[in-house]
Amino acid sequence: AKTIGIIGGGQLGRMLAMAAARLGIRTIILEPQPECPADQVANAQIVAAYDDPEALAELARRCDVVTYEFENVPVSAAELLVQSVPVFPPPKALEVSQDRLVEKRFINACGIPTAPFEAIDSQADLDAALDAFDGIGVLKTRRLGYDGKGQRMFRSPAERREDAFAELGSVPQLLEGLIAFEREISIIAARAQDGTIVCYDPAENIHRNGILHTSTVPAAINESTADQARRAARAILDRLDYVGVIGVEFFVLGDGQLVANEMAPRVHNSGHWTEAACVISQFEQHIRAVAGLCLGDPRRHSDCVMQNLIGDDIEAVPAWLNTPDVLVHLYGKEESRPGRKMGHVTELR
Ligand code: ATP
Ligand code: MG
Ligand code: MG
Repeated sequence: AKTIGIIGGGQLGRMLAMAAARLGIRTIILEPQPECPADQVANAQIVAAYDDPEALAELARRCDVVTYEFENVPVSAAELLVQSVPVFPPPKALEVSQDRLVEKRFINACGIPTAPFEAIDSQADLDAALDAFDGIGVLKTRRLGYDGKGQRMFRSPAERREDAFAELGSVPQLLEGLIAFEREISIIAARAQDGTIVCYDPAENIHRNGILHTSTVPAAINESTADQARRAARAILDRLDYVGVIGVEFFVLGDGQLVANEMAPRVHNSGHWTEAACVISQFEQHIRAVAGLCLGDPRRHSDCVMQNLIGDDIEAVPAWLNTPDVLVHLYGKEESRPGRKMGHVTELR
């Protein structure tokens, strides 16, 4: 491919555009925000809503292939595009990962365990499901949640509330069993157009205030747990006839067994370390896959810790720049706000 369309102009789109540029591939961003992290790097931007039919027609005309940097691209937009230009990952991957209920059913259908779950469409549904879960669980909106938004935890029956369904906006929800995990890991994997799959080493993730704080590689897991993660990723990729990079999050139980949490049909925050510790980053891997090139080697040449720079963390950048062996990556966002992802640093160990 000579030109790749990217739906979404955030930092993930920016990093994809950077990786494409290095391979001599042009990128065109579709993003309604005229100033966005990706517009500083991409070759062009179409400023329009993600589901604007004229903008989509223009994108299809100007690009050889279209991809996306976030999972809430309207499925209708992807399905419109796919009539005139290849769209990778396939629109089905969006459909599955946009709705936590569909996603969990899909993951189970791949033979991968998840937390037990119940669909919740009313407070009465919630009351019944909480009874069945002994009052303990995690309530999540089915759609549009990220960074722990749109969730409420019931860690004990005492935390139960009579208005929890309304508090999350009375939208369709899901109650999940609360998993007593030992740690959290994720795996970044990629599938090429010929079906070849590569997996990066799983990362161990720590969250703060619901937002990813650090990803450490290697994760403190044994080989059989790592193998479960790779097998799960492969099953998901093959079942979707997927092309591109995917991120799959898991809970690790005390006995090393994995329970899948969620998947993201795109490059993933917990894979940012790959740009520092692998020859081929997740971003280049994704570009290679969607462009129809062969995949690169996912091997890790260094141990490392990636740390997100959220909000005021950006003030530590001068100090990070003074630290040897740290790769500093900033997203070019003018204004820092609490909870806003401003950049990340990866320290080699
Ligand atoms: P992301 O920003 O990764 O997309 P999200 O908002 O989609 O996050 P989840 O990944 O579903 O939310 O949950 C956020 C965090 O909450 C998890 O990483 C985990 O720490 C905790 N959590 C979520 N579901 C459960 C569960 N069923 N049992 C225990 N902890 C959970
Ligand atoms: Mg999520
Ligand atoms: Mg998550």
